[in-house]
Amino acid sequence: MAASLQVVGAVAALAVVGAAQLALEAIVAPERNATDLTVGLLALAAATAVSGSMTILQSQQQRLLGERLSQATWTDILAVTTRVRMINYESVGFSTQLERVEQNAVSRPFMVATALLGMSGNLLGVVTMAIAILAIAPILLPVLLVAGFPAVLLSRLASRAEFTFASRAIGDFRRRAYLRRLLSQRPFAAEARSFTTTLPLSREHDAANDRYLGLLRRQVRKRQAYAVLTTLAVGITLAGAFLIIVLLLNTGQISLAEAGAAAIAVRLLSAQLSGFFASLGNLQESAPFLQDLERFRALAPPEVEEAPPARPLRSEFVVDQVTFRYPEQSTPALHGVTLAIRRGEIVALVGENGSGKTTLAKIIAGLYEPDEGRTTWDGEVIDGEAIRASVSVTLQDFVRYQMTVRDNITISDPDRDRSDVSTVLADSGADEVVVGLDDGADTMLGRELDEGVDLSGGQWQRVAIARCLFRDRDLVVLDEPTAALDPRAESELFADVRQMLDGKAALLISHRLSSVRLADRIYVLARGEVIDSGTHDELVRRAGLYAELYGMQAETYLRDLS
Ligand code: ADP
Repeated sequence: MAASLQVVGAVAALAVVGAAQLALEAIVAPERNATDLTVGLLALAAATAVSGSMTILQSQQQRLLGERLSQATWTDILAVTTRVRMINYESVGFSTQLERVEQNAVSRPFMVATALLGMSGNLLGVVTMAIAILAIAPILLPVLLVAGFPAVLLSRLASRAEFTFASRAIGDFRRRAYLRRLLSQRPFAAEARSFTTTLPLSREHDAANDRYLGLLRRQVRKRQAYAVLTTLAVGITLAGAFLIIVLLLNTGQISLAEAGAAAIAVRLLSAQLSGFFASLGNLQESAPFLQDLERFRALAPPEVEEAPPARPLRSEFVVDQVTFRYPEQSTPALHGVTLAIRRGEIVALVGENGSGKTTLAKIIAGLYEPDEGRTTWDGEVIDGEAIRASVSVTLQDFVRYQMTVRDNITISDPDRDRSDVSTVLADSGADEVVVGLDDGADTMLGRELDEGVDLSGGQWQRVAIARCLFRDRDLVVLDEPTAALDPRAESELFADVRQMLDGKAALLISHRLSSVRLADRIYVLARGEVIDSGTHDELVRRAGLYAELYGMQAETYLRDLS
């Protein structure tokens, strides 16, 4: 469609030159013929109108093209973000690259497509005008083309300046975007008011604004200077070409009508050349950004044909001598950790903040791959993807989907019958949450999209546990599933945790050691290593770290009661 508009545009431009020559010939003819003149002028008007309207039609067509390209680029970006290993998200390098790609790569492909389209249209225009000029006064053509060189040079300089500017401004640009989020979005609104962070944050935002404006101002000046120089070069070329036309006319080599047509053709050619160089500049400017997008695309692992099936746990899942280090960190978060979860068993992880519990839970959930050591499922070595298919997990920072309660729960297993929701609602205690809602399980949750209901932290946590149970797997990982529950809700949940798990094996992390007592085995972590393991009674008898932590919590409660 866009290409056919260009062809029509080029033909119309040629028609403008032809019609102008006709009209001029009719004007200067010794015997004036009114019909010829009218036909010539009408043809000129029509050709000019068609040529002009093609530009408008093309710019509308480009809107469509822009949206389609943006959609295609987003599909590519999302293919990477949803398929890359989870560990990428722990790396600063990846986050920066993602942000840059999101910021630039979506607009750049559009710029390139418009530039390419523009260039092909301009090229068509240059060729048609060149033919017209060749037919009238061939000598003009080399003059015009040679004079185009300064324009090429200037467009190269301008595009280089643009990339330098973009690299220099990115720091302030990102900082400003971050501060705008802090100052405008809901999760930050409460602290902004209670801590009166608004003032220092606004000040920092304004400073980033000023710095960016300063850089932009300098860049704009530079580009304006280049533009003036380019226009000057084009102007001189035009003047030169017009002088040659006058010379040719005076020496009788061309007629007056031909001179008029040649002048129009020269003018149109120079417009086409300017357009061509502007597009070339945009293309050069976008190249580094597109290379960036290509590098980002290459991060996605190849798409798997079929997800691995969920495995039943027949004997045990074992973490064997596992060492794991976060990207860009010198010390490992886990070191030589060995742990087993047998069929139907509840295993708990205990340790102080930063001891590596969540990291280990993520390895057991198949979200991170160990750097050393291995994981085995019923004796067979298993990788992250196969683990993820066979495990259900609730992490501390579970997602609060802006959907109905039912969708919030069933999203964990799209293959399972949605009517099973009522069972997991009862098992997780989320039924008590649902009872209080106007539309029961069909109530919209969250306040971001629709006018939904917001739940308390503890209520959300029950929904998250229900989601975890709905994904019916033989191994369940629960990282602090009760942190936001009130004491009654927590003790109710743990009182029937075995019933809730219904024979599933589970890895449980909880700071409340009273809840951990019931585990079949407890592993005590310190600085990324397992320093002890056993049942609650065994660990208390051994009087190690566990006994110390347990004693501290018990003492606090007893002191408060006495
Ligand atoms: P816990 O759950 O026991 O509080 P974590 O598993 O969250 O401990 O953290 C273990 C160690 O790994 C800590 O020293 C923490 O600083 C480090 N760590 C956790 N997450 C990251 C991360 N995304 N990048 C780098 N280091 C991390």
